[in-house]
Amino acid sequence: MKFDQDTIIVATKNKGKVREFEHAFAPLGLKVKSMFDYSELPDVIEDGHTFVQNALKKATEVGDALGLPVLADDSGLCVDALEGRPGVYSARYAGEHASDQENNDKLLLELGELKQGEDTEQILLSPARFECALVLYDPFTKRHIETSGTVDGWITTEVAGQGGFGYDPLFFLSQYEQTMAELTLEQKQSISHRGAALRKLVTLLTEVIG
Ligand code: IMP
Repeated sequence: MKFDQDTIIVATKNKGKVREFEHAFAPLGLKVKSMFDYSELPDVIEDGHTFVQNALKKATEVGDALGLPVLADDSGLCVDALEGRPGVYSARYAGEHASDQENNDKLLLELGELKQGEDTEQILLSPARFECALVLYDPFTKRHIETSGTVDGWITTEVAGQGGFGYDPLFFLSQYEQTMAELTLEQKQSISHRGAALRKLVTLLTEVIG
């Protein structure tokens, strides 16, 4: 796989993901470029039924358009009480271009627990997990490598934390007795679905390119 020396291109416009990739790749001496750096490219339509299908679609469409290797992440939240929803629809759960706040409100509504007022009692509503599929695609060889990662937790009624993005403030981790949004970036990286998939990718890459 050929790399542009010190840069890796990630097919995302999600600022939270970009921050996490920058943090993960900095120790490897790699800078991150994202779709904010290639705003002329059309958005990829994410119509896959699985995280892997969507990640593969993003990586191949963007990689072929740029003629450069591209990494894509497709990820989301799967809630047991909602039979795995919002899943691949996590980003647009409350509608196209929905904000994190709107998606979080919709999640609590669906679970019948949109909080009103000052009640601070924390109730764990349902087991849930984050899933992440990563695909690194090389347009020169048309080959790709893929990895995945998951992390288990609970959806809680008590939104907490300023870190992370998306559903992190509602995702409670029993081992920390905190939500994902209360963890530092290092802590999140060490246990998250994305961190797990990234570590597998780095191991695979080391085997492929030495
Ligand atoms: P994608 O960009 O189509 O893969 O959508 C990912 C969506 O899943 C995000 O917009 C979030 O709503 C959710 N998501 C994925 N990873 C995380 C995470 O690490 N924390 C919180 N929410 C996440």
